[in-house]
Amino acid sequence: MNNYKITLLKGDGIGPEIVNQAVKVLDKAAEKFDFTVTYDEALLGGCAIDATGVPLPEETVAKCKASDSVLLGAVGGPKWDNQPGNNRPEAGLLGIRGALGLFANLRPSVIFGPLKSASPIKDDIIGDNMDIMIVRELTGGIYFGERGRKEVGGQPAAWDTEQYTVPEIERIARVAFDLAMKRDKRVTSVDKANVLESSRLWRETVIRVSRDYPEVTLNHMYVDNCAMQLVRNPKQFDVIVTSNIFGDILSDEASMIAGSIGMLASASLSGGKLGLYEPIHGSAPDIAGQNIANPLATILSVAMMLRYSLGQSEAAEAIEAAVSEVLKTNRTPDIYEEGMTKVTCEEMGDLVCAQL
Ligand code: NAD
Repeated sequence: MNNYKITLLKGDGIGPEIVNQAVKVLDKAAEKFDFTVTYDEALLGGCAIDATGVPLPEETVAKCKASDSVLLGAVGGPKWDNQPGNNRPEAGLLGIRGALGLFANLRPSVIFGPLKSASPIKDDIIGDNMDIMIVRELTGGIYFGERGRKEVGGQPAAWDTEQYTVPEIERIARVAFDLAMKRDKRVTSVDKANVLESSRLWRETVIRVSRDYPEVTLNHMYVDNCAMQLVRNPKQFDVIVTSNIFGDILSDEASMIAGSIGMLASASLSGGKLGLYEPIHGSAPDIAGQNIANPLATILSVAMMLRYSLGQSEAAEAIEAAVSEVLKTNRTPDIYEEGMTKVTCEEMGDLVCAQL
């Protein structure tokens, strides 16, 4: 029987509440699909600063590296807002991505049938099965390039650098094409090749990689057009692949199309088996400790973990189907609609387990 070692980084705010529910669901899936899971916990973010003085202790990196996958709740909160930039909880998040070599961020934007009305986009534009996968490069580009301050014409100025190497573009392109092969076999590469040299290299490289995937249809779109097309006709997209900064912005836009922030999962992959899975939302300090947070984004992150790191696609599908079924009549307060049963964070976890 397969046994998987999972490191839990519960983090701050609602992090522990939502991770606990996701663990319950993972245990239930293990029972049903005949595998076992052992857990180890480690500190990241504000809780790590409180306990050790730094947001990413070395012990956390070591534990994550020794596991099959990592499940993260969320980090941050007002208590640590006055920490210097490199010692903020979010610095721990960037640090763990770098330390684990997580260069590919996958953000599905999927609408669960029962939640269609939560989307701000008209029904006929979304259709019945909007399902976009945004693949964002996560460890390169302008967020990691050289930067500085200087004087220009006697005035204070600042600069940042967007730079990509060919191998960096190739490996993220391959992640996108491999995913497309398991989906609708369409990739849209998003860049700003009409202006940026780094984008022109991006485009040339993606075209070259695409020759290894003759079954996949590739098209290119400028980022400004893509921002518009996402709300005009989101159904046209299958897999979108793009740079760190463009992906940061477009994935937030795409998640709004899907509706509630409490529903959206994400995966960060290293090319190997190890991945880090987390909801896209933050630590929601305004509702922490009240047992009202929506645990579904974290539960759906566990489904992604099963699919992309643990090779248990059937279990992943079963969790997604259970979530969809439970949503027909049960809602946490953030997605509540008239006529539904209002449930707590814990009850939502129990309902998904029961459905499984
Ligand atoms: P947030 O995502 O934490 O919250 C935004 C709003 O959405 C809040 O009203 C919150 O109550 C609600 N919300 C979020 N998740 C929810 C859930 N699961 N169920 C119900 N409601 C939910 O964003 P924010 O308020 O901008 O940030 C709060 C803290 O989280 C900050 O310290 C920020 O830096 C941090 N943050 C962390 C991550 C991460 O860990 N990956 C991501 C974003 C923000």
